[in-house]
Amino acid sequence: MKHLAEYREDLHSCSKCGLCQSVCPIYKITGNDCSVSRGHFIMLLGLLKGELKMTKRINRYLDLCLKCGACSKFCPSGIDIVDIIASAKAEYFKIHPIEKFISFIQKYLIFGFGMNIIKLFSRNIKSKEFEKKVIYFGGCSGKMKGNKAVIKLLNACNIEVITPNFKCCGIPFYVRGDRNTFEEYAQSYLDIIDKLNVKDVVTACASCEKTIKSFSDEINVKNIFQYLKENNIKLKLKKKKRVTFHKPCNIDNYEDIKWVLENTENLEYIQMQDFDKCCGWNGITKPGEYKIMSKIFQNKNKNILKTKAKTVLTSCLGCETALNIYSLGKYKAKDFTEFLAENV
Ligand code: SF4
Ligand code: SF4
Repeated sequence: MKHLAEYREDLHSCSKCGLCQSVCPIYKITGNDCSVSRGHFIMLLGLLKGELKMTKRINRYLDLCLKCGACSKFCPSGIDIVDIIASAKAEYFKIHPIEKFISFIQKYLIFGFGMNIIKLFSRNIKSKEFEKKVIYFGGCSGKMKGNKAVIKLLNACNIEVITPNFKCCGIPFYVRGDRNTFEEYAQSYLDIIDKLNVKDVVTACASCEKTIKSFSDEINVKNIFQYLKENNIKLKLKKKKRVTFHKPCNIDNYEDIKWVLENTENLEYIQMQDFDKCCGWNGITKPGEYKIMSKIFQNKNKNILKTKAKTVLTSCLGCETALNIYSLGKYKAKDFTEFLAENV
């Protein structure tokens, strides 16, 4: 995790063209330049030059960003905003005890004690043995749902699944700016992989995948859909199901998921409008910004309802939780891996 000062050149490379405004879901609602990359970068340069101080107001603008990355994909200068915002949050984290307190609760109560209790009740099975072996990184989703779905699907590809007890990938700490906890979690992941001496890792969650890929170039991280596509595993559902799919922002390889959606028998896939636009999960954690965030939730909800599908598939625990909250029982959001394992 780089320090804010190390991004000085990136901040300077912003040409102020304003193209990021046309894709930023938050700017579209607020119309305020401080809530989009261009404005963020001007503020952060002000901080680095000592012209501004890291105040609660600046932190609010950093927090408003959904970390969806839509602006980075569109930016002609190719600036990655998510990493820059995380490094700026780390500056705020250093000087604000309340941030440290929240992080402490997350680390020890939610992701520590809480997840270990939940894990006792999740559905876990033993993998069959095959020559080819992969390590399953389940993250929090794996602790809550167990390893049954992933093992069932990968064993169908003649792949043995090793399931060590990993911690969370650390993304909640990364976006809060808790550098120490994030680096501790990254090290714990690397130590476990090192001991197992297997360099292939599989995950079913887009956010975990993106995060653990950043820990090492020597570990080969793939998502489960890539394995299904590579092995040409065409599944068949027991009964016909109409579904739609919400693409999490952190997915880089949507093509693999699309292949599974299009090649699973009895799966009627209806693509929703703006299926690849952020669901606003990050906004759910900011009740003070409800007025802004609710507009993002409403758009997603409207597009889902138009498909008339009762099941919305996705592959990120955050998106799945957000969509189930918006649905008010009108549809069910489901992890795609879990859905496949339950229905074939
Ligand atoms: S699109 Fe990129 S270069 Fe243009 S204003 Fe936004 S951040 Fe700057
Ligand atoms: S990451 Fe998303 S919410 Fe944040 S500034 Fe870029 S487009 Fe806007």
